[in-house]
Amino acid sequence: MKRLIILLLGVFQFATSACQSPATPSTSNQKTIKMDTINKSDAEWKKQLTPEQFYILRQKGTEPPGTGEFNKHFEKGWYCCAGCGQELFDNTQKFDSHCGWPSFDGELGGGERIKKIKDFSHGMIRTEIICARCGGHLGHIFDDGPTQSGLRYCVNSLSLVFKPTKS
Ligand SMILES: [Zn+2]
Repeated sequence: MKRLIILLLGVFQFATSACQSPATPSTSNQKTIKMDTINKSDAEWKKQLTPEQFYILRQKGTEPPGTGEFNKHFEKGWYCCAGCGQELFDNTQKFDSHCGWPSFDGELGGGERIKKIKDFSHGMIRTEIICARCGGHLGHIFDDGPTQSGLRYCVNSLSLVFKPTKS
């Protein structure tokens, strides 16, 4: 009888330890599987981006109006996130808003590539737009657009890189 109890205790101990041990690896697995989002430290972003890009993308800065590379840029191709390269807009969505920043009336990916966040900074209520993959700050979205969508994605040139259509 004693032996049976010891045996049972042994089995019980094994069972509990077997249950506990996989808990840690499976949680860390879930984190990596979750989404193909990019999580880099500020030090890693600083290595990859120019100081100006870092200020806009990672510190939610704004480039002075009328200074951006893509403000008056109208060529065929894609405007991609300068942080991770994800295609965010194409040239058919771009229009001249005369506001000093590149403006778009729609986005690629049906809402999955750009995240909208309520922004209460600077005494205003605005909607900030960020890249859904790397979290990089792009600009803001307004509902005063002149085209059919009524939307104006006001984006910093420094948040974007341009990929021309191959002809
Ligand atoms: Zn990105």
